[in-house]
Amino acid sequence: MPYNLKDEPAEAWRFAISFLVDRERSKAAKREFWAQGPHKCAGILHDLGLTRAEFDDAMRLPYASEDLLTPAMRSVGIDPDSFQTLEATRGGMSRTCMTCPHRRECRGLLAVFDFENHYQEFCPNSRGFAKLLEGGRT
Ligand code: SF4
Repeated sequence: MPYNLKDEPAEAWRFAISFLVDRERSKAAKREFWAQGPHKCAGILHDLGLTRAEFDDAMRLPYASEDLLTPAMRSVGIDPDSFQTLEATRGGMSRTCMTCPHRRECRGLLAVFDFENHYQEFCPNSRGFAKLLEGGRT
């Protein structure tokens, strides 16, 4: 299909809308999180290994309100509900995902079912995924 200059403003507009919707979702998720009360939230942040400042920074990243780890695991062939996987998730994979600078790229590839072909080039959890896949074969 030939490149159409007329499509450019529409594409920019769609991006702007999607950006604003994402920001609103992230703000709502943050409000819901803190509505659980400071004691419970402190416990959750402790379990995730995040300070409050790191959590606030993470909530400013693209698609902060979305769980990208579970679909990423499924796409590379890892069962997200296995005991071994849940341990790894608690052991730092969630934190890595929440603070990941590649969330936009990750989500885009997941949306077109192409994450499994490219994640090793950029995903900070790829070594953890490899260990889980290796463990699944024993
Ligand atoms: S690229 Fe990897 S670490 Fe980053 S959000 Fe996606 S699955 Fe998580």
